[in-house]
Formats: sequence, C-alpha cells, structure tokens
Amino acid sequence: MGIQEQYRSEAAELLSSGEVKLVIGFGAGSTADRRRPLFARTPEESEKLVLDQNCIANLTTYLVAGGLLTDGKKVAVFLKPDGIRSLNILIAESQVKAEQVVIFGFAIENNEVTPLEGRSISDFAKLGEKLRTATPPPSVQEEAERLEAMGSSGRFEYWKEQFSKCIKCYACRQACPMCYCRRCIVDVNQPQWVSTSSHTLGNFEWNLVRAFHLAGRCAACGACDRACPVNIPLRLINYRMGKEVKEAFDYFAGESSDQNPVLASFRQDDPETFIL
Ligand code: SF4
Ligand code: SF4
Repeated sequence: MGIQEQYRSEAAELLSSGEVKLVIGFGAGSTADRRRPLFARTPEESEKLVLDQNCIANLTTYLVAGGLLTDGKKVAVFLKPDGIRSLNILIAESQVKAEQVVIFGFAIENNEVTPLEGRSISDFAKLGEKLRTATPPPSVQEEAERLEAMGSSGRFEYWKEQFSKCIKCYACRQACPMCYCRRCIVDVNQPQWVSTSSHTLGNFEWNLVRAFHLAGRCAACGACDRACPVNIPLRLINYRMGKEVKEAFDYFAGESSDQNPVLASFRQDDPETFIL
C-alpha cells in the first residue's frame, strides 16, 4: 500500500472511531499540479485526500484559526518537517496542546514522498537533526549572502525597492502559522501605531514590525513568500533574522516543543550586550 492509501485509511479509521473530529490534509487543486487544503469530517471525505510532491503548503496555520481546538477535541493534520517545526513553536508558545494533534508526517525529497514515523509530536522529538534541514532552499541562503556582501546602504536600497511593491494586503500574515495574534498591531487604530497606507514609511513599518515579531519564531515554510501577490522575498528577511538569533543564542526555532521561546524568556547568564 502506498503512503497516500495508508494515510487515507488511517484517517478514515480515526474519523469513524471518533478519535479525531477533523482531518486536515490536501485535496485536488485547480490545476493538475496544485493542491488545496481538504477538511475531512467523515470517513467518506477522507477518500479525497491526496498526498504527493505537490503538497507543499504548511497546514499548521489552520490549527490556530477560528478557535478550532478550543473544544478540547483532537484534530489530525498532514505535516512536512517545516510544519512540524511550526507546530513545535506553537506548542512551546502555549497556543496548541500537543495531545490534541495527531500528525500524518511526510517528507518530500527528490520528488518522492516518504512517511515520517509517529503520530504525536513527542514521536518527532527524535527528528531534531532532520528538522534542522527544514530550512529555506539554497537559493534563499545564497541571496542572503549576496545581500550580506552589499553593505548596509546597498541592503537598504534593496529592501526599499522590495517593500515599495507592498500593497498591504496582509496575505503573508494570514498564511503564516506564527501570525496568530487575535488583533494584529497593524489593525489597531487608536492609536494608529502602523500606517495602513501603501507608502514607503508605512511599508517599512509593516514589514519590519513583522520581521521582528518573527525573529526566532519562523519555521521557514515559505507560506508568506507563496502568498505575497507581488513577490516580495519575505522568507529571505525571516531567514536572515533566524540566522541572527542562531548566532546570538544558538537557538533553532521549532526544534522541539519544550524549547523556551528565545525572545520571551530570561536567563541569568544572558550577556545583555545591548545594554550600554
Ligand atoms: S514567516 Fe513565512 S516562512 Fe516563516 S513561518 Fe511564517 S509563513 Fe512560514
Ligand atoms: S503579502 Fe506581500 S503585498 Fe501583501 S502585505 Fe504581505 S508583503 Fe505586502
């Protein structure tokens, strides 16, 4: 039995036994090579689940949407290593209870889909090293190095040009599993902390506020990149912030679910070099 059939059959069992109320996976998309999220609530619906090399979205986002888990019931979800990273972060930040999530883990390597053993987040603790490979593709890392070599004024011009394209649609925020705040600071208008207009200052404010908020919290899933209608390389800035956090604190976000969130915890031996 292939992995798709195996996961379909297990999903149907979980639904018919009532162990989970919902399975979040992938279904056929609008074209042959696109997949869209599929929400199966009955064993029959689980027959429509698809699992192949086109299943690239990070479905963790749906776990924190619309109070899905507030009734205490379990949900099953299909996740790649970057999705497992983001789930670890959400558990560490007390947004998701580990015992409420059943995971159908899989990896895509060389266009082949392989299963990841285990069904609960603790089963994936041993994946530590594998999760460290859930990083942006080499092209993003090479671009980060190219920017590094530009110097600060070159980088400023680069990002000014990129951010000038932003139309403040907030699709990046909606797609990101880490953007779960009930009220985002850009939606607060009394006072208006961040300008809602699409002009240079407002665009810098929005994109930099978001980058800082994601420092040490980005799972490198690329959902923001794919959602951005004007192709701003958002994963690039988040990757760069993650690299900074790794160098300063030796912290790789989402490696395990019992990590202390790096910028929300205090250590007596922190060097505090930023305090003059
Ligand atoms: S910032 Fe982008 S790459 Fe990072 S977790 Fe959010 S959607 Fe994924
Ligand atoms: S998705 Fe792109 S255009 Fe939309 S708010 Fe985010 S950065 Fe701006």
